[in-house]
Amino acid sequence: MPELSNINIVREILGRHGFKFSKSLGQNFIVNPELCPRIAEESGVGPGICALEIGPGIGVLTKELALRAEKVLSIEIDKNLLPVLKETLAEFDNVKILNADVLELDLKAVIRENFGDMPFVVCANLPYYITSPIIMKLLEENIGAQNLTVMVQKEAAVRIAAKPGTRDCGAISAAINYYSEPEKLFDVSKGNFVPPPNVTSAVIRLTLRKEPPVKVSDEKHFFKIVKASFSQRRKTLTNSLSSGLGIGKEEVLSALEKCGLGPNARAEELSLNEFAALSEIL
Ligand code: SAM
Repeated sequence: MPELSNINIVREILGRHGFKFSKSLGQNFIVNPELCPRIAEESGVGPGICALEIGPGIGVLTKELALRAEKVLSIEIDKNLLPVLKETLAEFDNVKILNADVLELDLKAVIRENFGDMPFVVCANLPYYITSPIIMKLLEENIGAQNLTVMVQKEAAVRIAAKPGTRDCGAISAAINYYSEPEKLFDVSKGNFVPPPNVTSAVIRLTLRKEPPVKVSDEKHFFKIVKASFSQRRKTLTNSLSSGLGIGKEEVLSALEKCGLGPNARAEELSLNEFAALSEIL
């Protein structure tokens, strides 16, 4: 099997297939031989556990997953990569490549069809232009993964792994903490990719919760409150909630008071419990 993390081999294979990197599809392929085994190990995949990958590229991480997992299902949007993957993953009979846009797929159905009831993890070097929509889809659709171990931009990793009530927390951090326990594992510099991206990357692991950490009577409303709270980052909650929800400041102030929050409270200071209390009152 060719060494898929060797830049000369990658260039030779891609050149032979007439493949051109697409910036708009976020194609930055890993070319460090130590990185993919490490990411695969961090996902905890092993015998009896399957792996769902998004965006296999030339198959460098897919191969490490295939060596460890029971089965690998890998979703790739770029049909120009299909003949490449057919060649690079030829020796594995536990890998299936699905040519599709992950954001358009009925993931639950695809997972059931391919993995049945077997436990699985999601492991991927994500296309950075759609990191948040992919992660939110994976969390909101309740697909049943054990964890998501994914590479993202470092800046996104900081926000995703931020705990509610801390400075880096945003609407996405609150949503992520509702569904999972996030951890930032390690940084990855630009030189580990071809072509190199403009930013540093990081690998994160989101371990899915069995139960959300707070009880809310209407999840949709809870997330609406969280989103509105963070809609104007530098403003107070009173202003962001009043304009975000289209309600009077008096109503917001009274709700804040009932939750034990002052008139100058800011979204990044709130815990998930406080967001939950606020969403029950408003
Ligand atoms: N896993 C490979 C690696 O680490 O070398 C490639 C990672 S590259 C950052 C992202 C991959 O996601 C590319 O192969 C790209 O074509 C694919 N991709 C981009 N948008 C996608 C989408 N909407 N659905 C599925 N795959 C997508």
